[in-house]
Amino acid sequence: MLMDSYHRVVDYLRISVTERCNFRCQYCMPEKPFSWVPKENLLTFEELFLFVKVAIDEGIKKIRITGGEPLLREDLDKFIKMIYDYAPDIDLAMTTNAFLLKSTAQKLKDAGLKRLNVSIDTLKPEVALAIAGKDVLANVLEGVEEARAVGLKVKVNMVPMKNMNADEIIDVLEYCKERNMSIRFIEYMENRFAAKEISGLKSDELLAILRERYEFIDEGFDGSSPSHYYKMKDGYRFGIIEPYGDDFCKQCNRIRLTAEGQLIPCLYFDEALSIGKAIKEGNIAGAVEVLREVVKNKPEKNRWGGEDGEVSSRAFYETGG
Ligand code: SAM
Ligand code: SF4
Repeated sequence: MLMDSYHRVVDYLRISVTERCNFRCQYCMPEKPFSWVPKENLLTFEELFLFVKVAIDEGIKKIRITGGEPLLREDLDKFIKMIYDYAPDIDLAMTTNAFLLKSTAQKLKDAGLKRLNVSIDTLKPEVALAIAGKDVLANVLEGVEEARAVGLKVKVNMVPMKNMNADEIIDVLEYCKERNMSIRFIEYMENRFAAKEISGLKSDELLAILRERYEFIDEGFDGSSPSHYYKMKDGYRFGIIEPYGDDFCKQCNRIRLTAEGQLIPCLYFDEALSIGKAIKEGNIAGAVEVLREVVKNKPEKNRWGGEDGEVSSRAFYETGG
């Protein structure tokens, strides 16, 4: 079992398989980065899988594939199958922008993927164009329908932003509710890469909008999920991810691996150690040592909303959000 120095059990690994993306979301990667990580620095799926086995043996029970856009990486289904075949009971999920999902959903399902989180910030094509930098909405919605049709469980992520998509909070929630998909609103997290003019809605502003339309009760946090849950009268639940909130990090159970092999203990902080060298040399004991060290060094709390006004210096497309 992996436990950090604040007695939190770490059993969730998020793997960013690429930092590249086919979208240019205003809050994440509005401009193409000056340079991408060279392909030769990326860990191959065989190398990533070596580490995944180590991590599962050490106590990881949930794995999420993310990015950048994970579906840009060729043969992703083969990587998913490797993990599934090694540990069929692992909670194996992926976060995607869904642009390429229509043609890949069946393969992913067949490979052993169980769940998907899809980012849907708007249902208006022109707003999707403004947020993602290209006309993406039709493909995204078709991708979602295909994923549901092949039997993948889909949850939706939305980042509500002022003067952008705040007027669609109810519409996106209704779109999800009609399809029995849960939705999580993510408070925009400031970072040095996002477009300067982005201003996210905080959870109290979001709740005020939702209260005008619905009655719901506060259900608090549920296990180690980062979402604060609310339940409507008809039983439908929605979540809000509040990284600026005091309780956000209390139950944190996750670490993150980048496509280059950096193992990151917290989304906010820069401290990371590389498992790349150990894995490339087949040094399993070395990889275990790095993993344990990173877990031990997990900070107690992020610094979003801190008094010094500092914002995260790492890009979300690198860490996988
Ligand atoms: N490309 C995939 C996608 O967009 O779903 C996966 C990677 S993306 C970095 C993972 C999640 O991070 C998405 O739901 C996205 O909305 C969220 N995200 C990215 N930048 C963010 C920011 N600055 N604040 C809050 N959420 C952010
Ligand atoms: Fe790409 Fe996802 Fe970042 Fe948007 S949020 S730019 S889709 S990685």
